[in-house]
Amino acid sequence: HQLHAAELERTFIAIKPDGVQRGLIAEIISRFERKGFKLVAIKIVVPSKEFAEKHYHDLKERPFFNGLCDFLSSGPVIAMVWEGEGVIKYGRKLIGATDPQKSEPGTIRGDLAVVVGRNIIHGSDGSETAKDEIALWFTSSELVSYASNAEKWIY
Ligand code: ADP
Ligand code: MG
Repeated sequence: HQLHAAELERTFIAIKPDGVQRGLIAEIISRFERKGFKLVAIKIVVPSKEFAEKHYHDLKERPFFNGLCDFLSSGPVIAMVWEGEGVIKYGRKLIGATDPQKSEPGTIRGDLAVVVGRNIIHGSDGSETAKDEIALWFTSSELVSYASNAEKWIY
């Protein structure tokens, strides 16, 4: 099997503590999975406040930064890496606009969230941030490459 560069695009996706507490883990994973993207890393973790500040360092001048970091570190987060052609941009499309009041119906935030401070999911916004966020949350040995080989399991 020859790997094409486009197949190796990866993005960092996290289900925030509100999504976990509300029992939306399977719902969110299934939307990425059914689309056809490939899950290559996953773990459940309670980030420290310092870790949350690293994750959101780009936003440190914003008035909501402290509350945001308190919230992200308030409970379990599902950290994931998803792989697939166009997964960074299309992942953002599946997620929907930052403010759930502006997210389209059919998107994760549009269907499942109401307020911007509790919008249940994070997704990298570009190839540089995807690289940085994957490196922050995972070691390279936690990323698993595998072929889909679907034909092996269809009888
Ligand atoms: P996104 O998560 O869509 O990439 P941003 O990177 O702009 O959005 O912001 C990161 C997170 O900060 C958002 O998902 C949201 O949880 C929170 N946030 C953004 N804007 C606000 C706001 N005006 N008030 C409170 N929280 C906010
Ligand atoms: Mg962002």
